[in-house]
Amino acid sequence: MQMRSGPMQYTDPPAILALDAGGYPRRWIGLEEAATCYVRGAVAWDLGDHAFVLRGGISRASGRRSELTLRSIVALRGETVVRASRDRVPVVVREMLFARDRHVCAYCGGRFRLVDLTAEHVLPQSKGGRDIWTNLVSACKPCNLRKGDRTPEQARMPLLYVPYVPSQHEAFILRNRRILADQMEFLMAGVPAGSRLRAAAVSP
Ligand SMILES: [Zn+2]
Repeated sequence: MQMRSGPMQYTDPPAILALDAGGYPRRWIGLEEAATCYVRGAVAWDLGDHAFVLRGGISRASGRRSELTLRSIVALRGETVVRASRDRVPVVVREMLFARDRHVCAYCGGRFRLVDLTAEHVLPQSKGGRDIWTNLVSACKPCNLRKGDRTPEQARMPLLYVPYVPSQHEAFILRNRRILADQMEFLMAGVPAGSRLRAAAVSP
C-alpha cells in the first residue's frame, strides 16, 4: 500500500482515535498505523462520520486500484481491554494542564501563549505541595513570580478557578488539538458534567 502517492492525499492528516475492543480510548494513531491495523485484520469495529480513503497500487489480477477506507474511530483487537481504569488519573503534562485551564492564568485571569505560562503549585512544593492535578494551575510568569513561595491566602492572590483532575476521556481531548467532530462527540460522552471543557463547548 502506497499511501503517499495515491490521488487522495492528506497533507496534514488528522489522527485516528484508537479504542480497545471494549470501546475505551487508548491512543491517537496516524493514518498509516490505522491502515496497517485494517490490513492485519486488527480492527474489531469502527465508527465515526469521517471516512478516509487511501489508494494503493493497481492489482495485476483485476487491473483495479486497491482502496482502503478508514474511519475516524477504530476499536482494535489485541489492545488490552481496560476495565477498572475509568477512574485512573491521567499523568500531568504541562501542555495538558494549560489546555485544561484554557491558557488562562489562575491569578490575573489573562489568557497567555504556551511560552508565557508556567505550571504553578497552589500549595508551594516547599510546604509539601505535590505535582498533582489538584495542586497545579496555569499561571503567567509575573503572577508566578509575585506569588513566590506562598499560599494564595498568604499572597492575597485568590484562585480564579479551581484546579481539577481531568477524566481519561478529557485527557484524550486535551492531547490532540485537531479533533474531528465525531471523535469529539464520542469523547465528550465520557467527560464529567462539571468539566471546564463542557463550559467551553457552549461558549468558546
Ligand atoms: Zn497572571
